[in-house]
Amino acid sequence: MNSNIEESPEHNIGESSAPSRQPASFPTSHQTSTLSADRRIGRHVSIGSKPVKAAAIAREIGCNAIQIFASNPTGWRLPADDPVACAAFARAARDCGLDPVVIHAPYLINLASPDEIIWEKSITLLRWTLQRGGLLGARYVVFHTGSHRGSGVDAGIARIAQAIARILAETPPEVILLLENDVGAGNSLGHSFENIAAVLELLPGYVGRLGVCLDTAHLWGAGHDISSAEAVQLALQQFDEAVGLERLKVIHLNDTAMALGSHRDEHARIGEGIIPEEGLRALLRDPRLAHAAVLLETPTKTGSDGKEDWQHEQRHLQRVKGLMGLSAPH
Ligand SMILES: [Zn+2]
Ligand SMILES: [Zn+2]
Repeated sequence: MNSNIEESPEHNIGESSAPSRQPASFPTSHQTSTLSADRRIGRHVSIGSKPVKAAAIAREIGCNAIQIFASNPTGWRLPADDPVACAAFARAARDCGLDPVVIHAPYLINLASPDEIIWEKSITLLRWTLQRGGLLGARYVVFHTGSHRGSGVDAGIARIAQAIARILAETPPEVILLLENDVGAGNSLGHSFENIAAVLELLPGYVGRLGVCLDTAHLWGAGHDISSAEAVQLALQQFDEAVGLERLKVIHLNDTAMALGSHRDEHARIGEGIIPEEGLRALLRDPRLAHAAVLLETPTKTGSDGKEDWQHEQRHLQRVKGLMGLSAPH
């Protein structure tokens, strides 16, 4: 939740003052499209007030999947209906070959909250996010499982499941809700695979509409060792036994400078944190995860003009593709 990118006000797409994006030229874009058709890779892109342009940028830097916010990630306010803009984004994402489109839900949502007002507001906002996701052509909505605020793990888990049952009953069946794992600070849930499994087990009627997103920086922060091929095998085995690898739909690929088990959530670009490359490579190359979309949520580099350096980001993605074994990094 405290990653640089996720805190960036540029992601507050409800704000009309969001800066416009001026992608520079991308001299190598057509030479880097060596991505295998069945692996999906992309990144979180700020859509600002220009969602169609965000889709074009994602394609230009080498993505075939994308994650966006559908509203201000740190606000409760629901943006006005805008079916024309939503349809334009859905069309642009399709035209740019971006599949899946993933929506990251706002951070204020806490379905585990014992507070009635927060709980109802959370249900309203997450329900709206799935409904808007349908209009945006999204396949997945990712949300944080939240904190029980002292009411206890079992109470929190029951609360989440109860909220999800209400939300899924009133949202488009084609939009799948994903629980994201957590670093486990304070009373937050979702740092253990058993927490996630417990929620899913309470909702047996929604197997097709519920899945999981694993964030590598959150795994690390929660104390799941992914530093080597052996460690990754053990972590995946534990996830498989608790949840089932087939329920894993999205991997948030982030490095972090925080220590293993620190319960701190901060994202770094791949290779700029302390998660050993060997572990990330093993995770990305595990054939049992080949169905999952890989999305970066790393801070983007800005040039001296204060704008994102998309060419740098293109090289960053190329490096990740190298880790995945899709093409050699430049
Ligand atoms: Zn997240
Ligand atoms: Zn994440």
